[in-house]
Amino acid sequence: MNFSHTFIPTLREVPGDAVIASHRLMFRAGMIRKLSNGLFAYLPLGLRSFRKVENIIREEMNAIGSLEIKPTVVVPGELWKESGRWDAMGDALLRVKNRQGADFVVSPTAEEAFTGIVRDELSSYRQLPLSLYQINTKYRDEIRPRYGVMRGREFVMKDAYSYHCDDESLDEHYQAQGRAYRRIFKRCGLTVIPVKADSGAMGGSGSEEFMVESEVGDNTLLLCKSCDYAANVEKAECKLDYSPRFSQEMADRAAENIPPMEKIDTPNVKTIDELCTFLETDAKSFVKTLIYRAVNVELDLSKAPGCEKLAKHKASPGAPETYPEAFFAVAIRGDLDVNEVKLAAVLKASEVALASDADVERITAAPVGFAGPVGLPAAPVLLDQTVTGMNDAVTGALEKDRHYIHACYGRDFNAWLTADVRTVKAGDFCPVCGGELYEKKGNELGHIFKLGRKYTRSMGVSYLDENGKSHVPTMGCYGIGLDRTLASIIEEHHDEQGIVWPVSSAPFHVIIVPIKYQGQVKDVCNALAAELETAGLEVLLDDRDERAGVKFNDADLIGIPWRIVVGDKNLAAVSSGGTPAPKVELKRRSEKEAHLADLDKAAAEIAEDVRACLAC
Ligand SMILES: [Zn+2]
Repeated sequence: MNFSHTFIPTLREVPGDAVIASHRLMFRAGMIRKLSNGLFAYLPLGLRSFRKVENIIREEMNAIGSLEIKPTVVVPGELWKESGRWDAMGDALLRVKNRQGADFVVSPTAEEAFTGIVRDELSSYRQLPLSLYQINTKYRDEIRPRYGVMRGREFVMKDAYSYHCDDESLDEHYQAQGRAYRRIFKRCGLTVIPVKADSGAMGGSGSEEFMVESEVGDNTLLLCKSCDYAANVEKAECKLDYSPRFSQEMADRAAENIPPMEKIDTPNVKTIDELCTFLETDAKSFVKTLIYRAVNVELDLSKAPGCEKLAKHKASPGAPETYPEAFFAVAIRGDLDVNEVKLAAVLKASEVALASDADVERITAAPVGFAGPVGLPAAPVLLDQTVTGMNDAVTGALEKDRHYIHACYGRDFNAWLTADVRTVKAGDFCPVCGGELYEKKGNELGHIFKLGRKYTRSMGVSYLDENGKSHVPTMGCYGIGLDRTLASIIEEHHDEQGIVWPVSSAPFHVIIVPIKYQGQVKDVCNALAAELETAGLEVLLDDRDERAGVKFNDADLIGIPWRIVVGDKNLAAVSSGGTPAPKVELKRRSEKEAHLADLDKAAAEIAEDVRACLAC
């Protein structure tokens, strides 16, 4: 391909809103242009690399037996109403009406579309397992799109959905997807950190995210200094730094030497800090109690204090009964924070958030700031595990300017439910080996997830087993963001001058730069290009009438792995014996130094290297 025949509008300037390297370089290298906030067009150079990533993903999906289909991007709103996500997705879901007034959505993800197709075709266990995927456009109406294609509104995802008779079959395919993801990112030249992620109601090992480290990452990861434990903060656990109590006997024994609980005046003391100063103690001896409002709770609350009369509702036939709204008191050691994702998973709730001041005052019968787990009748008390290790604690007394001291778990208060809902942070201890945890920021490139029967049940999917009995299949979903993956390759592979493409995703393998594209140099360049193309390589020949310096700068900016410089001087080289020995200059983009090669051996040297890179 000749440079003058393609469309690579390189730029010297950096767009003002580009703060990360991939955004700057994709613009400057002429790979993308912005159509609107969060909407980007890929130009020819960008699209070539995009297709490379796409093909790597396609090959690895095909290799594990997932089957590619092509559903539409615009999907009937009816399917989203069946799954319950028409409302749950909020404003991120782009809804449109057609001329008849029927509802449609522009797909942000495709559980509904795939499950709708499978529902109509599935009848027998013989058709399972079934794994389908698409590589298709998605749209999410992000409030703040930024960082170029790293977080755009429109993007392309590979999303796969699998359907199974049982958990073993689902687990087998989930593991195969996990292995395929590791191969995909390795082939792309990306260093990914697989982390344990929140898996909602499924729990256990049902969810893994593939992260790349990024200073602008929107995820916080916790990693162990001593072993390979890595988790999203949403899911991270840590080793207990206290002794939990599991029985009344243990609690009684621990409380034996503690004076009876006592209610004291704490005038004008509102924050934990003020209380610590007032009582000359530290936050670790305080039981902090927060009132949370939870939405669509799937737990059975029929025996929970304050919940006996709560209304229940069913999103759709077959869906489990849920409580549309419920309030909980969550008590945790004073130096720790509640992790709302972990809390939502424990409550099997679609959403949790701190209750309004009015709700807090109603439930605690006190002004905000005096909640405590002792004698709270109006809401179930959920204790973080840390509180079960506490005795002689300070806590709110459900009265203005009053606190309890000497409060003991098991003696003075109990829990409706005990769970791990703390936010783990740097300095906490690894749950696997006890080593110290540290934090990194990361961007999610891929996510594999055991969904269970959430969608298949709510959308009424079933199959008959060998005895003619009807069952609901279980399901997994597996996504990779292509635009993000491409941008992350640039984040990991660039220098001051521009992009340094790995061979696997480079838009071309070789760029030929003539010092001046005329005469003998022109003939040699054309012949070299033909020889390399015959060998199966993708070649960009810079035939522009530009100064050599401009062409070198552009070659570095667009980052093609191999550069061949052809000039009269090296073509005129002679051997020590005086016979002509024409040479060209070869340089890898990833290396500083160039070297001279015999003209007749140059193409073979590069072809061999490119083939070796693609094979690994
Ligand atoms: Zn560890």
